[in-house]
Amino acid sequence: MSETQLTVAYLTAGVLFVLSLGGLSRQETAGRGNIFGILGMVIAIVATALHPRVADFKWIAGAVLIGGTVGAVLAKRVVMTAMPQLVALLHSFVGLAAVLVGLSTYADPAEELSGVAHTIHLIEVWIGVGVGAITFTGSVIAWAKLRGSMSGKPLLLPGRHLINLVLVGATVYLAIPFIGAETVDEGLRFALIMTAITAVLGAHLVMAIGGADMPVVVSLLNSYSGWAAAAMGFVLSNDLLITTGALVGASGAILSIIMCRAMNRSILNVVFGGFGTADQKKSSGGPERSADDVSETNASDLVVALKGAQNVIIVPGYGMAVARAQHPVKEMTELLQRGGCTVRFAIHPVAGRLPGHMNVLLAEAGVPYDVVREMDEINDDFDDTDVVLVIGANDIVNPSAQTDEASPIYGMPVLEAWRSKKTVVFKRGMSSGYAGVGNPLFFMDNTEMLFGDAKKSVDDLISELR
Ligand code: NDP
Repeated sequence: MSETQLTVAYLTAGVLFVLSLGGLSRQETAGRGNIFGILGMVIAIVATALHPRVADFKWIAGAVLIGGTVGAVLAKRVVMTAMPQLVALLHSFVGLAAVLVGLSTYADPAEELSGVAHTIHLIEVWIGVGVGAITFTGSVIAWAKLRGSMSGKPLLLPGRHLINLVLVGATVYLAIPFIGAETVDEGLRFALIMTAITAVLGAHLVMAIGGADMPVVVSLLNSYSGWAAAAMGFVLSNDLLITTGALVGASGAILSIIMCRAMNRSILNVVFGGFGTADQKKSSGGPERSADDVSETNASDLVVALKGAQNVIIVPGYGMAVARAQHPVKEMTELLQRGGCTVRFAIHPVAGRLPGHMNVLLAEAGVPYDVVREMDEINDDFDDTDVVLVIGANDIVNPSAQTDEASPIYGMPVLEAWRSKKTVVFKRGMSSGYAGVGNPLFFMDNTEMLFGDAKKSVDDLISELR
């Protein structure tokens, strides 16, 4: 393949990636976005394999075969609730790849550079390896926290900000002897020390973050992995890697900002805030209360209320994903609609365990997009709603986010389900949600609890409705 053909192929792939991101930003066009992304990636891989500099296919074929098989098996097996962990793990691979590519390119350069070009190349290697190492260990810690192998509680070492500052300072300082190194061996020694330092920094940064900030962290790591890939694009003089890395880096950063806005936080506050920490005021969470203090309902009584309702809003949350109740929820929605009731879904930006989690589940079950509303679109409609069904959601409908200044989730915008005439919460018991805080909604006068697995409860409702 000639250089011109390669440029055309890379340009086509780059355009397809942009179209893919555009498509993925809306539910209706997400399928098309995915196709564009797949096409772009196939063109990118084939063109790179046919690159004039590639002399031997066997290593590439081996890597594609092993990586492709592992990826396909993982994607096939993963349950929706384990998706955030998988995403975090995949980011860690990008980070590790950046470290390995950066170090090997330094140890065995493809071309001899000199003067300013050489210095710039060394800075690119330094940045790429550093960001890669932070992404790698940060993502591994996020993966371990999300899958429960590590406590979700933030680890707060005394003077943690100072520790981070020293690590960043050492990383910058070591670049000087690295750039001035006389031999590759000498430079490699500095590069390896820096890799270890940035690896500790990545782990420490993510260990200090806990609770409801994990979604933003995963999105931030996504962004870091993009910048690490872009840096490697510079190191390898690969334009497509620069473009793709920048697209991933920028979109991850934008998503992080959108999520922070949804939680009423700033990025800096998330990264350095130590959410849910000991240095935070203790939330009163209201007086100690138990299951005895709530009103309970059952499927038969709820169906009576639903049959008399004109307007119903369903608030899905993480528990709906755990119970895999999305298909029966769709069936129930259709039965209610057939009875003349207006049913809509209210989606919180961080419902579930990954951005868009609920949208994906509802789309999978075939719920039409026009009844699915974002938080801002629907929050004012709760007053005029007869029944709100909170299916496996907790933190995202917690009124203390507005009322309890000491609550770890204070300031996070929530779905104001309590403003409706009747709110029914589907959950198995009285346990708290991801943020680990009590929820006064359960004890309100117009709230009833429907205890049990969400799928079983919705199945019972469907039988009664029929
Ligand atoms: P929560 O985690 O707050 O609550 C889920 C509730 O579902 C639990 O209280 C649980 O109660 C219930 N539940 C679990 N399994 C079942 C089941 N089988 N049947 C019925 N109920 C069940 O979820 P939300 O969606 O309300 O909020 C998401 C939280 O996760 C937020 O704090 C968010 O910040 C955080 N987060 C979000 C991410 C994202 O990107 N969306 C990623 C990581 C974290 P019980 O055990 O009593 O049944």
